[in-house]
Amino acid sequence: MQDMRHDLHVLISVAKIDASLSRCRAELETIPEKKTAIAGSLDGIEKTQKAREERFAGMKKDRRSLEAKLEDDTELIKKFKNQLREVKTNKEYSSLLKEIAVVEKDIDTTEEKLLVLMEDLDEQEKDLSAVSHRAVEERERLQKELLDLDARERELQKEADTLQGQKPGFLAELDAQVKKRYARLLSKLGDVAVCNVVDEICQGCFSRLPPQTANEVKLNDRLITCASCGRILVHYEA
Ligand SMILES: [Zn+2]
Repeated sequence: MQDMRHDLHVLISVAKIDASLSRCRAELETIPEKKTAIAGSLDGIEKTQKAREERFAGMKKDRRSLEAKLEDDTELIKKFKNQLREVKTNKEYSSLLKEIAVVEKDIDTTEEKLLVLMEDLDEQEKDLSAVSHRAVEERERLQKELLDLDARERELQKEADTLQGQKPGFLAELDAQVKKRYARLLSKLGDVAVCNVVDEICQGCFSRLPPQTANEVKLNDRLITCASCGRILVHYEA
């Protein structure tokens, strides 16, 4: 009985280490997904910004072609007006006047388009600088989050290594049979082989134990296993 008490005492230490290890590993597992999400957000910011800049460049290009069209049409009117002086017949004269009217109407339309476009460009330019500013801030925030995650990952890894390093010392104190049983359970379950019971709940599989079993576990004087998951049960104040 005395030896068993000692083994249970050691198993409690192992259970505490396993519980902490399990917490570390669970958090470590969430980190890559968080990093991927941040990388996705950063990518999204880049793409939105690029699309906005491309749209802006497109509008500027439109402005240049409207301006060029205005110049061409103005030249055309000049040319027609020079021709007016040289025409011989009334028919030629009125046909030229018609052409001039068409081009003048065209110029009006182009000028209206240009005016609207200039206003849009003005708005876009203001918008673009505000949006760029926000994008820079957001990018910095996300990059900092990435760095924080890296730091947390290193911290957890270090903690896990330390915990893992503490285990052999405790395991060496166990009775050979108990140690074998622990090792067998661990390789089968892959994670935690000995765990605490809190409020009659096995902390390994979270199933409820019969009250009698839970009470027996509290005594920490013999090896009791969980009927559902097979883990060795111990009791300590968490
Ligand atoms: Zn269990």
